[in-house]
Amino acid sequence: MVVAMAFLNGPRLLDWANSPPHLQFNRYVLTGYRPISSVQDCVRSLFYLHNELGNIYTHGIPLLCFLVVLPLNIPWSQISVTWLGVVHFLACLSPQLGSVLYHLFMNHEGGEPVYKTLLTLDMCGICMINTLGALPILYTTLLCYPFTRSAALLVYILLSSYAIYCAVTARSRVRRLRSFAWQALFRFSFFLLRWVGVGGGSPTSLRHFLTMDALAVVGGVINITRVPERFRPGLFDYWCNSHQIMHVLVVGSILSLHWGVLDDLLWISSYHCPTD
Ligand SMILES: [Zn+2]
Repeated sequence: MVVAMAFLNGPRLLDWANSPPHLQFNRYVLTGYRPISSVQDCVRSLFYLHNELGNIYTHGIPLLCFLVVLPLNIPWSQISVTWLGVVHFLACLSPQLGSVLYHLFMNHEGGEPVYKTLLTLDMCGICMINTLGALPILYTTLLCYPFTRSAALLVYILLSSYAIYCAVTARSRVRRLRSFAWQALFRFSFFLLRWVGVGGGSPTSLRHFLTMDALAVVGGVINITRVPERFRPGLFDYWCNSHQIMHVLVVGSILSLHWGVLDDLLWISSYHCPTD
């Protein structure tokens, strides 16, 4: 490890006890902390090994891929409600964007205030995909009930604004997670409508949406319980710790959302609501 760092010419890394207090949020990650850095030095840290490198790339690489591939993958000419495609695209990008900025600049010389701002940004990214990401699902489920559909979209946006407020002001990880639970409950009531056959949507999309939420929940639990590093502190400092595992599961969750929404958008353009 020491040889690798010297080779890639990074700064001397710190251990947990010597890292800034606001970066001591995982006591099972013992080494590999970057020192307090300028913006340029934070950017430079993309190119040497430290304990945030895996977190940066597990969302940075998917971010670049989504940016290029998603617009090509959405069949714009075939979908009848274009704004749903746009909202969906923005939803898919936002959590990775917030996350990359948070992990890349968390050791900025601005200290704790900068760290807290970045953490808020990271939370906002998650809030954006929870909120914007669900709008196509709500829209499709209530496709044939335009008034109820508008009301449900409005209620969900209001509920989400409150969830964002809670998530941003939350002081603990558990509280932060709880603020997303209400949104999840609202989404689930829509899955239920589809399952019993009242709600619209492609027959194949519900499976994708359930996979999406399952992956997100498993990722959240792994992140909070600090598995696996709690069992072998120090062994997972650089790779395969709970936060990186969560990042990978989140990417899987976003892909599931994407596949489900694609199915739904195509379903909308070919479906005709029964008229009376
Ligand atoms: Zn993260």
